[in-house]
Amino acid sequence: MDFDLSPRARDLVDRMEAFFADHLLPRNREWRAALDADALDAPFMPDLQDRARAAGLWNLGLPNFPDHGLGNLDFAPLAEIMGRLVWAPQVFNCQPPDLPNMITLDAVADPDQRQRWLEPMMAGGVRTGFAMSEPAVASADARNIALRIDRTSRGYMLNGRKWYVSNGAHPACAFLIVIGAMSEAGPRAGHTAVIVPMDTPGLSVRRRVDFLSWAEPTAPIAEIDFTDVEVPAENRLGAEGEGFGVAQTRLGPARVHHAMRAIGLAEVVVGLMRARAAERQSFNRALQEYDTVQGWIARSRAEIEQARLLVQRCAWMLDHEGHRAAQREVSMVKLIVPEMLQRIADRAIQLFGAMGGSADTPLASVFSWARAFRIFDGPDEVHLRQIYRHEPLPTVALTESPYLYPGAAPLSGAAVSGAK
Ligand SMILES: Cc1cc2nc3c(=O)[nH]c(=O)nc-3n(C[C@H](O)[C@H](O)[C@H](O)COP(=O)(O)OP(=O)(O)OC[C@H]3O[C@@H](n4cnc5c(N)ncnc54)[C@H](O)[C@@H]3O)c2cc1C
Repeated sequence: MDFDLSPRARDLVDRMEAFFADHLLPRNREWRAALDADALDAPFMPDLQDRARAAGLWNLGLPNFPDHGLGNLDFAPLAEIMGRLVWAPQVFNCQPPDLPNMITLDAVADPDQRQRWLEPMMAGGVRTGFAMSEPAVASADARNIALRIDRTSRGYMLNGRKWYVSNGAHPACAFLIVIGAMSEAGPRAGHTAVIVPMDTPGLSVRRRVDFLSWAEPTAPIAEIDFTDVEVPAENRLGAEGEGFGVAQTRLGPARVHHAMRAIGLAEVVVGLMRARAAERQSFNRALQEYDTVQGWIARSRAEIEQARLLVQRCAWMLDHEGHRAAQREVSMVKLIVPEMLQRIADRAIQLFGAMGGSADTPLASVFSWARAFRIFDGPDEVHLRQIYRHEPLPTVALTESPYLYPGAAPLSGAAVSGAK
């Protein structure tokens, strides 16, 4: 495995670093002021998007568009830079959940659907959501998804309730990719994906939902009712019954992109810890002189480097061997990176004292986002299960293992078990 970047990616990283320093970081306080004033987007967003487009820093997360995107390994350091500020990915049209939705449309949309739904998204300014989870069922097991889809003479009728739909509460959200169960196919099969424009009669946003009292600022989250929502047949994505396959096209990239951005965010947090520890005095010493504080920072550094290597390995495998081969690595990234970010954010909050939980720093929202990341796109436990399943079965009974020494007593029922 070779984690060296391509010459194009190296050039893009340099240019993105410069763009970030010149145009994004100086406007972060302005972004925050717009948020506090309840603006949907910072007023400067369209201007920055134009600049990013002109600078060739647009749609870099779309791997199948050679004029735009890059492979996963090359995209990783760019996503890291974007991850430093929660609003930065939008400047480059790489924000979730739109980027994974674009990847899905690229993978499964027919030519008409590409023209109608994908191309406007690639041009920028179109917000979308992905509606799979439901309040009434354990959504970690996608087979439970129950929103009903009935065939009609014109297309499909949807009835049910979704929640935690990121972007769904944004007034500019144009459409959702909805996963539902075909009523004719039985309860555990026949899940299908359809595109539902937000202005379709019968679709209503019940309420905005938060997580840990943290309101996702860039992609506000909604609970949404579907009551006799009818869409034409041409809105179906992929074949009937193949909705999980459609969902998979986005979940892999979404998980890995989130992880790449999370590493950028962790770097910001460690930088803030370092600055605070250098400046704050307690019991006549700077905080940085205490072993405990040095240990927090050093552990955080080691954990970031560990996480980045795992992400690079996963990205390399996705690029060279495909999603199926990298399933275990995607799950490991999805397990390790949110835990890493949560731990680092927790240490930083402790180091900052009361200020760490205040709205004067991004630390509380980093912690909340990291905590949420341990649940969305599959909770930790589901990924642990996936990783466990890849562990090879034992080939000999334990007492016959050459790694044990003579004298180990046979265990009762010590036959090699294939049970998983
Ligand atoms: C901030 C945020 C944004 C989100 N955005 C979206 C979105 O845009 N679109 C969307 O569709 N959904 C979204 N979600 C929802 C998210 O994907 C689901 O919450 C997640 O899949 C878990 O489903 P659930 O909440 O129903 O938990 P459940 O399925 O009820 O699981 C609850 C807990 O049970 C345990 N558990 C479940 N299965 C297993 C298992 N196999 N083994 C061991 N333990 C298990 C886990 O601890 C799990 O956390 C978002 C969630 C959050 C918090």
